[in-house]
Amino acid sequence: MKILVLNCGSSSIKYQLFEMPENKVLTKGLVQRIGEEQSQALQGNNGSNLEIDEKIPDHAHAMHVIERMLTHPEKGAISSLEEIEACGHRVVHGGETFTGSVVCTQELEKVIEAYCELAPLHNPANLTGIRAAKAMFGDVPQIACFDTAFHQSIPKTAYLYGLPYEMYQKHKIRRYGFHGTSHRYVAREAAERLGKHKYAVNLITCHLGNGCSIAAIREGKSVDTSMGLTPLEGLVMGTRTGDLDPAIIFHLIRLGYQPGELDTLFNKKSGLLGISGLSNDVRDLQEKEEAGDESAKLALDIFAYRIKKYIGSYLAVLNRCDAVVFTGGIGENSISMRERILNELDNLGLQLDNKKNQTVVGEAGEIHTNNSRIKILVIPTNEEGAIARDTYALAREYEMVESTI
Ligand code: ADP
Repeated sequence: MKILVLNCGSSSIKYQLFEMPENKVLTKGLVQRIGEEQSQALQGNNGSNLEIDEKIPDHAHAMHVIERMLTHPEKGAISSLEEIEACGHRVVHGGETFTGSVVCTQELEKVIEAYCELAPLHNPANLTGIRAAKAMFGDVPQIACFDTAFHQSIPKTAYLYGLPYEMYQKHKIRRYGFHGTSHRYVAREAAERLGKHKYAVNLITCHLGNGCSIAAIREGKSVDTSMGLTPLEGLVMGTRTGDLDPAIIFHLIRLGYQPGELDTLFNKKSGLLGISGLSNDVRDLQEKEEAGDESAKLALDIFAYRIKKYIGSYLAVLNRCDAVVFTGGIGENSISMRERILNELDNLGLQLDNKKNQTVVGEAGEIHTNNSRIKILVIPTNEEGAIARDTYALAREYEMVESTI
């Protein structure tokens, strides 16, 4: 079964075409700068690359550009769109309604629409993508996979803030958590590597990419995570602050900053970029640090320190922990960042093997010493692959239901 996975942003669509159940990527691509004067579409297909540069006014047009790329006579992956039997969509916010992936119906679209208020940058774009795909694919099932779904098992003690309870009742203010597809994927892979049932493992999963979050997983279920009502809370990220004293906001407003300005400052100009004044990219900062740059070193130190603090607190939450898992561009590749984070955690049961740490880069592997009480794993994430798996499972159920009606 061929499945198209779509990740729609406000001005971009990333896509991957899978052959299932093999989970084989047939091709993948990206349409960017949708709505701007000059848009661009790129598709990489086993070395034969395609590029289209033209004005792409909206997501509906972008879907047709994707169709042209996928069915390109020489460099495409299929001869007709009819070969695609289901589409999987990444949807950022599923609020409290969704604990897993679901088939998109009109009622479901209304619920996603209702959560646009909680994720104004993401959900409207995700919904536009679903509608554009429905218009193009007709009856082909469209499946929504939510970033928040895996974290719906977090108990009230961990998801409520110390605010008056009516803030939760009236305005749905609570921790939702994000990157759920990635945390769930690496948790399941980790269980397999550990030779345990997926609901028998206690883990701490660290997703360290452009956005960063960490999750405490008890018996295969998320019981706490660092991102909150929005992805701004928790770890220091490429351009986001992570945890802050909320009174900083009142203070800055009194100093004359506007709320919109603070939103941009906290989300786009802070984190590694803001602290270093140089870059949001760990690779750049590592190079600068090696060349003796103090501000790059400081940014990397603060980034690692926050992660270490969260690992310590989640060890307390879980009591028993089988493994700490690193994933995302930084977690999978940065030897020196893993070293920084895991330095002096041996009293808590985590002992990094420096040699193994040097060799496990961009692939799955173990990086703990033989004496380490808690294992330390590197597992490359595969959010699109996980969405493809869910889509495949639900599309098969959908087919069975359809054929019995
Ligand atoms: P996204 O969250 O957008 O999917 P990624 O998971 O690709 O992003 O992570 C991007 C981050 O990974 C960047 O900060 C980049 O510096 C870091 N990264 C990627 N490769 C390496 C590497 N070899 N060494 C250190 N950091 C890396």
